Amino acid sequence: MATWARLETAHGSRFAKLHGTDWDILSAAPWAGGVATGDRIPGPEASLLAPVEPSKIICVGRNYRAHAAELGNELPAEPLLFFKPPSAIVGPGAPIRLPPGSGRVDHEAELGVVLGRRCRRVSELEALSFVAGYTCVNDVTSRDLQKRDGQWARAKGFDSFCPVGPVVVANPASLDFEVCCRLNGELRQHGHSSAMIFPVARLISFISHIFTLEPGDLLVTGTPEGVSPLSPGDVVEVEIPGLGVLSNPVLQGD
Ligand code: ZN
Repeated sequence: MATWARLETAHGSRFAKLHGTDWDILSAAPWAGGVATGDRIPGPEASLLAPVEPSKIICVGRNYRAHAAELGNELPAEPLLFFKPPSAIVGPGAPIRLPPGSGRVDHEAELGVVLGRRCRRVSELEALSFVAGYTCVNDVTSRDLQKRDGQWARAKGFDSFCPVGPVVVANPASLDFEVCCRLNGELRQHGHSSAMIFPVARLISFISHIFTLEPGDLLVTGTPEGVSPLSPGDVVEVEIPGLGVLSNPVLQGD
């Protein structure tokens, strides 16, 4: 079981692999052939960035029955896909900035899946062999702009609306993930990935028949029920046991 991160170093951002409590610096992303350079950063000194730099972020809407119901939506007959721009990504500890002009910005705790190999028209059976690892994602969403616009590019795409991390875990002990969200320490969302309408293998196969997935691309698999609005001064945590805790403060944007 490997654990990967991306660190801020004196030489810029670097991917790294956990070694005990220290980080072994890699020459590139693990899914881009990165190997250990021999440099090592002690764990307590590491400053973690978002552990991915995807060419695209593919998200799935309404993939949990109870969440579709809480927003008054029908269940989709096929995966409902949308994109977030890579520019929305922030790492653990970085602020989520609430944009002026949005009346309600919600957290959405989600399982993130990082692709390890180029993937095109794969079957459901082979789909999971294209996965590099798993991480926590907060699909931050402007609920009022989502309803107003009809399509979701603006509502889902503001800078800082895609916290990811803290790490990517390859081959976790279980593929039945608990997806939790706490707002100021209070549990708001708690679901299981086994309750997804379209499970990860199905999603990868479906998406790979539409467009090519590249190594490092990020698939965000939908949120369980319990979404709620964020306010300046909040701290929002996405926790998936086995993958860590993704914690971000919330600030008023400008
Ligand atoms: Zn979502």
